[in-house]
This record gives sequence, C-alpha cells and structure tokens, in this order.
Amino acid sequence: MKEQDCLRRFLFERLGVRGEWVLLQTSWQQAKQYQQLSAGVEEQLGQAIASAVLLSATIKFEGAMILQAQGNGKLNTLIAQATHDRKIRGLARGDTKMEAGSLTEMMGDGRLVITVEPEQGEPYQGIVALQGDKLADVITSYFTQSEQLDTKVWLFANGTHAAGLFIQELPDQESYLADWERISALANTVTQEEMLSLDCEQMLFRLFNEEQVSVFEAEAITFECGCSTGKIENALLALGKDELDSIFLEREIIDVDCEFCGQQYHFDKVDVDNLLSGQPIEKLSETRH
Ligand SMILES: [Zn+2]
Repeated sequence: MKEQDCLRRFLFERLGVRGEWVLLQTSWQQAKQYQQLSAGVEEQLGQAIASAVLLSATIKFEGAMILQAQGNGKLNTLIAQATHDRKIRGLARGDTKMEAGSLTEMMGDGRLVITVEPEQGEPYQGIVALQGDKLADVITSYFTQSEQLDTKVWLFANGTHAAGLFIQELPDQESYLADWERISALANTVTQEEMLSLDCEQMLFRLFNEEQVSVFEAEAITFECGCSTGKIENALLALGKDELDSIFLEREIIDVDCEFCGQQYHFDKVDVDNLLSGQPIEKLSETRH
C-alpha cells in the first residue's frame, strides 16, 4: 500500500544534516472537509498543515504546534495545528473561494505566528513577516532568524494531497558547508509531482541516491480536532454574563459549530446559567453532521 498520512525522519549521519518527509492524504482531505475552499486556498492551507507537521517534529514537546498566518489580503487567516502525537487540523478564513496566487498575493502583508502550546507550562511564540511567494520561504526565514541553523523547506498541496520536505543542519557541525550545499541543491530538485506521488524512500532515492541516508520508522498522522465541551464553555464564559443574557433574549439555544471539524455544541439558558454560576452542566447534547 502506498505510504501516506505519515511523517518520516531521516539523517545524513556523516554529513550532519537531518531531514523530515511528510505526505498527507486522508488526514488532509478530512481536515478540509468542513470548509468550502477554492483550489488556490486548498494549496495554501495544505502547505500550512504540512509545515505544521514538519515543525512540530523538530522539537521534543508534548502539546500543540500552531501556525497562524494573518494578513490584510482577501485570504486573511490560515491556521494549521499539529500535536506531538501527530494529530492535525487546519482552517482558512476570509475569501476562501478566491483564485490561486502567490502567498502574498492571496494574504497580503502580514505575519506568521508560530506558537508552541505545551500541555504543561507556558506557551511560547515566534513571529516572522509574510514575505515571499511561498509559505516555504516564510518558514525558511523563520528558522534563519530564530535558530541560526541552515534550514530549507519545500511544501506542496492540492485537493487530494499535502506534502513537505525539510532539511536542517545539526548544531555544532564543523566544515560541512560543501556537504550542506550539495544536499540542499539535490533537495531543491524536488517537484510537486514527485512529492505528491512517491513514497518516502523512493523520494529520497530519487533525490539523494549517491548519499548515505538513514530513514526512521513512519509515524502515522491523523485528523483529530481536539475541540471539547470544556473549551467551548470557556469561550462562552469569555463573552461574559451580559453578552450571554442578551443572546438569550433573541434565541433559546446557543449553537456553536466548530469550524475545524463541524462538531456542534448546544447550550440552553439553564446550561449557561449553571456555567456562569460555576456548576457543571449535566445534560448536554452533542451531534455531528
Ligand atoms: Zn472541532
């Protein structure tokens, strides 16, 4: 069976270069199924999700890595999340039917905020300007600014697949510049057609058949939103009592649909009053389309 919905890491041991390969199919199709996206927006969101997976695998942590691109263009927001246990979700906001273009043509001026949200402890963020034709350029400049380790990223996506390739020098290397340049020049010959159709080892052989590269076991990737009643309750509480009361003047039920996964949450006045008074909600109906 074809290798997809997985991440594989690889290592050029003697050269001091590490890499990652990711190819998403089912998980990507599930992640976008609750949104109406044009081919151009799918391309950007798929690339964002693939890069979230690649970035989440560069660090040891338990929690979520969130990429949020925000711009003043017609496509104003892209959110992509990957957790340490390889669960993904993603969302596009703005004119999600717009025609394809470069990243900055679609998103305008703005920034990419990369947040690591550990399960324990404080979140931390890195920010980089949205510059360049492609999200891969933005990610590359993020690494150049934040880690000062030579890093390169290639991202591809269409309506059925999303994929990414990542290489990075290992810290504390000596006299490897020629090796790095050779590996990154070889990697730079990667094409969308190859990345979206080949298995990891076929792809690595295609690119680096004269190099010694070790490939690690595949890590499965799934679409899983992670939204929950508790998180929606917190969002409602953040609106405050006055706002909630005024909503109930107009309707009997507050319906909240998760934008990422389509999960529907319903709260009536009793639920919300209990919530405001700090009591657990006993009866709660949840339905999925
Ligand atoms: Zn959800």
